[in-house]
Amino acid sequence: MKSHGITTLSIQEPLIFDQGSEKRCAFSLPDEGRFGPIEQSIPKHWIREEIEGFPEVSEPELVRHFTRLSTWNYGLDTGFYPLGSCTMKYNPKVNEEAACIPGLSGAHPYQPESISQGALRLLYDLERYLSEITGMDRCTLQPAAGAQGELCGMMLIRAHLERNGSGRRRVLIPDTSHGTNPASVAMCGFEAVPLKSGTKGIIETDAVRNLMDDDVAAIMVTNPNTLGLFEKNIAEIADVVHKQGGFVYCDGANLNALMGMVKVGDLGVDIVHMNLHKTFSTPHGGGGPGAGPVAVKETFAPFLPVPEVVKEKNGIFAFNDDLPLSIGKLKSFYGNFLVCVKAYSYIRAMGARGLRQATQTAVTNANYIRKRLEGHYHLPYDDHCMHECVFTDRLQKKRGVTTLDIAKSIIDRGFHPPTIYFPLVVEGALMIEPTETESREEIDRFVEAMIDIAEETEKNPQNIKDSPRKTKIGRVDEVTAARKPVLRWSPGTDE
Ligand SMILES: *Cc1c(COP(=O)(O)O)cnc(C)c1O
Repeated sequence: MKSHGITTLSIQEPLIFDQGSEKRCAFSLPDEGRFGPIEQSIPKHWIREEIEGFPEVSEPELVRHFTRLSTWNYGLDTGFYPLGSCTMKYNPKVNEEAACIPGLSGAHPYQPESISQGALRLLYDLERYLSEITGMDRCTLQPAAGAQGELCGMMLIRAHLERNGSGRRRVLIPDTSHGTNPASVAMCGFEAVPLKSGTKGIIETDAVRNLMDDDVAAIMVTNPNTLGLFEKNIAEIADVVHKQGGFVYCDGANLNALMGMVKVGDLGVDIVHMNLHKTFSTPHGGGGPGAGPVAVKETFAPFLPVPEVVKEKNGIFAFNDDLPLSIGKLKSFYGNFLVCVKAYSYIRAMGARGLRQATQTAVTNANYIRKRLEGHYHLPYDDHCMHECVFTDRLQKKRGVTTLDIAKSIIDRGFHPPTIYFPLVVEGALMIEPTETESREEIDRFVEAMIDIAEETEKNPQNIKDSPRKTKIGRVDEVTAARKPVLRWSPGTDE
């Protein structure tokens, strides 16, 4: 099996801590003559006296150290990244180019509206594109992530209920939901009520009917759900919830399975959040900035965060803070503006037809993987999937090989592992999301690597259990890492 993508340990690579020599230096500061002693420019309490044991290296040694470290990383630009529920699609570089246009990247949040017309128009148009894609009336770009979008949506529901004198407190959340859902609900002061999905992995209308009463504020549905299945009963469920005075919130982080094909607004959804850093191709991972816009039906418009971007009669764009019922500000200024620029650029480049095609290809790719791996891995829900498919380790477990072992072994075969042990309703889950940006050849290579692991499990399970062998670091002690994190290197330690 050809290994590609992940760098393998072949030659002895020197670590920076073994390099250098006393008084070697990678920088030169202006001589003291120009600026005076260092204590004059930097307050004394910030100058660390006790630093000892740091490697003293030259500039080339330093550059090589960091460049080498960068090649140890695995990212979308080096290989296939089938992390389910995360939509790790390729991010076109033209979007980065757009975000680097000086008038956008250098715009100051306090600069006057009169010289920000381009930026304001971009925000205004993006809100409308996202409203159109979701079938909603209005949108806010302010939330910085999917989870903050959920919180925003819950705050909108609370504001609406309070305005109408209702004290409803419960929110129904299916057992296939993302972990952030109950957390957002709780943060907003609601009570999360678990809703069991049916034997086919989707919500049954009767289950909702049985839980609905006049204390239920909303149902929070992820569609497609985290099993990669379309919630077929959603419109009927929305009807039941609405008839009893509740609202329907849709976690739309998985919009990569719907955009251009289905508008959630047509299915009875009142509020939906999107993840620009998943569906709309803005880079994510590593803690970088994201965006979780929230689109709503007209009835929630008065409660949206401020400021909103408005287009005045003369065609001039402006910020409006005058929304007396607004839930206020969720994020400093206007959200993560340059993430919005990238998503805008993506939508413009793709066009309506392109977005639809992306969805179709993403769903086709996931079903292709599902069909090719069926028989090699246990498929808990044997139905057409949307943009991702979920397998388990049931067959491999008979030979002592678990989902974690399979994930480690796929690393040795040159791929990032799928999402594992999620969704929680599936024991030993392996959740694979290929996205539309992978070629048939790449997907075939991944499938063959997965089949190879299944076959090796039958012949020599210990081989799988001993992986990864080709990475810089083998298996880490995750429990100790979580309980006793060492977050800072100090001289004289190996940690
Ligand atoms: C990723 C995801 C979220 C959370 O999004 P963040 O931007 O990570 O906060 C919520 N729900 C679902 C279904 C997701 O896949």
